[in-house]
Amino acid sequence: MTVAAADRLSQLPPYLFVEIDRAKADAVAAGRDVIDFGVGDPDRPPPEFITECMAAAVRDPANHAYAPSRGTPAFRRAAAEFLRRRFDVAVDYDTEIVALIGAKEGIGHLPTALINPGDVVLCPAPGYPVYTSGTVFAAGTVYTMPLAESNAWLPALNDIPPGVRRAAKLMYLNYPNNPTAAVAPLAFFNDAVEFAREHHILIAHDAAYTEIYFNEPPPSILQIDGACEIAIEFHSLSKTFNMTGWRLAFAAGNADALTALATVKSNLDSGAFKPVQEAGAAALSGLGRPEILAQRDTYRRRRDALVMGLREAGWSVTSPEATIYVWARCPAGIDSMTTAARLLSDADVVAIPGVGMGQHGEGYLRFALTIGEDRIREAAGRIARLNW
Ligand SMILES: *Cc1c(COP(=O)(O)O)cnc(C)c1O
Repeated sequence: MTVAAADRLSQLPPYLFVEIDRAKADAVAAGRDVIDFGVGDPDRPPPEFITECMAAAVRDPANHAYAPSRGTPAFRRAAAEFLRRRFDVAVDYDTEIVALIGAKEGIGHLPTALINPGDVVLCPAPGYPVYTSGTVFAAGTVYTMPLAESNAWLPALNDIPPGVRRAAKLMYLNYPNNPTAAVAPLAFFNDAVEFAREHHILIAHDAAYTEIYFNEPPPSILQIDGACEIAIEFHSLSKTFNMTGWRLAFAAGNADALTALATVKSNLDSGAFKPVQEAGAAALSGLGRPEILAQRDTYRRRRDALVMGLREAGWSVTSPEATIYVWARCPAGIDSMTTAARLLSDADVVAIPGVGMGQHGEGYLRFALTIGEDRIREAAGRIARLNW
């Protein structure tokens, strides 16, 4: 018997990296020295205070049962305390925080909790693919908010047509942004909250990168007065603490939206492993520790090495203020797929073509700063030797 997948799977955007994936696998198999800037997954383990906490927690016999589905009180208290200390935002840990099995899980399930068939979800593009796939799975309608360099990679809210505003129920935002590395100023969050209030739209702000910054700490949308009535914000431990495989995050803000999300989750999952939540609480409480500061410095040095190297190679690059990415403009007149293919075939360097993150990413490449400085310099040197 052949098994046909549900129609909704065919509505997902096409996966555009097939050829690049194959070319990369071929290069590696041929023994070529490939330098891979493709994956946005930290290359280093979590700081030791986190793994030590996990190791002790996992030996506690009381820690192996199902966890409470909204998260353990201790983890939610640590999350609320993190928001207070870092952003001066006050939320009730009991009603305004829900623990997640990674931000991706919460972002992906949110439309199932809030969206009826045909409701419009506003999704930035280029952007993290889960905003649209979560919407498709909930039979919602995606409306793309293009991000452009000319508008500082912020969506132009005034360009959203009146009919779309009326039909929209949810708007995803993401700052500091993947893939563009842009940081949104508080003034933009203020405009977004005003817009959302006027049109009865819930904002879901993906704040996965607020703790990886190189100058000013980026803001939270919850800093805007009254934002907790109109927004929820996703915070992830993945990138901040090198815990991508641990699967731990939380959402904070509007209590009704969080209750709906928690209802979906309690029907589909049974909470993150208690020791992971215990170590996660320790991580959030340890945000100011030297290990975390040192990690920011590591990304800063990598950023500087790559930006300087690409500029010396004649590329046009803005040095990012935050995130683990450099978003670089392709050489003039060459599209992102062609550029990525050339980097791989002629320099053994892998970067993500912007068009793979949506049509509006065309003309750019994303480099993840998840490899050592020496390798970054080596890659920049190879790129400088290419003739376009
Ligand atoms: C990495 C990433 C996430 C995923 O976080 P998890 O907590 O690991 O699921 C969410 N949003 C963006 C923009 C990311 O880059």
